[in-house]
Amino acid sequence: MDRRKFIIGTGLGLIAATSPISISALDSATRNIAGKSGRLNLSFMPYELQLRHSFNLAKYSRTTTPDVQVEIEYDGIIGYGEASMPPYLGESVESVCAFLSKLDLGQFSDPFRLEEILEYVDSVDEGNRAAKASIDIALHDLLGKIMGQPWYKIWGLSPEKSPNTSFTIGIDTPEVVKQKMEEAKPYKVIKVKMGLDNDKELVEIIRSITDIPICVDANQGWSDKNYALEMTEWLSDKNCLFVEQPMPKEMLEETGWLRKHSKLPIIADEVFQRLPDIPMLNEYYDGINIKLMKSTGMHEAYKMIVLARALGMKVMIGCMTETSCAVSAAAQLAPLVDWADLDGNLLISNDRFDGIKIVNGQVTVPADRPGIGVKLL
Ligand code: MG
Repeated sequence: MDRRKFIIGTGLGLIAATSPISISALDSATRNIAGKSGRLNLSFMPYELQLRHSFNLAKYSRTTTPDVQVEIEYDGIIGYGEASMPPYLGESVESVCAFLSKLDLGQFSDPFRLEEILEYVDSVDEGNRAAKASIDIALHDLLGKIMGQPWYKIWGLSPEKSPNTSFTIGIDTPEVVKQKMEEAKPYKVIKVKMGLDNDKELVEIIRSITDIPICVDANQGWSDKNYALEMTEWLSDKNCLFVEQPMPKEMLEETGWLRKHSKLPIIADEVFQRLPDIPMLNEYYDGINIKLMKSTGMHEAYKMIVLARALGMKVMIGCMTETSCAVSAAAQLAPLVDWADLDGNLLISNDRFDGIKIVNGQVTVPADRPGIGVKLL
């Protein structure tokens, strides 16, 4: 790993590693990190994710995703975390670095006080969900490594209960869709991004190649409830499992109407972010899609699953385009959910980590690798 690109979080502002700091100064900072300080030491580095294919959704298209890689060190053990910032969530490299630079994790000498540390992180500023997730993930990785166990074991989960995970096919030309279907061969579920005029055409192309189940994410693309119902009816004859965020997030009443008439479950994504948003959704949606970059990490994601189950809701775990760091962290929760959509690491060409694997279509984390289950490539 190139530590020279990392920025040491001091709680007193940034030590910028790119130009103002000398290598010897950073080496000195790194030496402090390597010692047994008995304190949590934070460092972070902007890292632009390169997408294998341009990502075309109903509302925009892009070829990169801004990202910040995070490390938290304690007594020589390093936990890895990550903030991924797809533009629609409103965070950026600048906002994440600014938030992380405000944190003073050095005030904590016991990393097992997870509640207390994350409560402090949450209190520093509102929003900043991806930035907060990067700290949460790195802390979980650190704690798991100190305990010598992966988080699915710490939570007492059975890995064989993880559902099949889906591979995402975006809106594209028939030629590119066929090429993507080749990449999707290890998967037993295909996730189809919809919300444009050629929605049915995309499904027909996929159905000309395979009969495996699909799930559909309309990304708020259907603003007419009758059209949305027509589409869910059509999809229910196409071996579709559910429809995610069919209508704009503001259209709650219409979504509730659709849910009442639809044969397929209607799943919430863009309409919610954090734990307190969930009870209200139960009236309009059948289930929720949890993503660590929305939930501020694994700790709140676990609470979300418990709450959604208590409300009788379906649960899906998803991700952004991310390295294997954040995707493997999400995969630790997979045994608790109905559906998994954890392919974000496969959509990029510059992953920094080895971690999550797809085995017989199932999302799998290394059984005996502690923490979130990753190692640097
Ligand atoms: Mg979605």
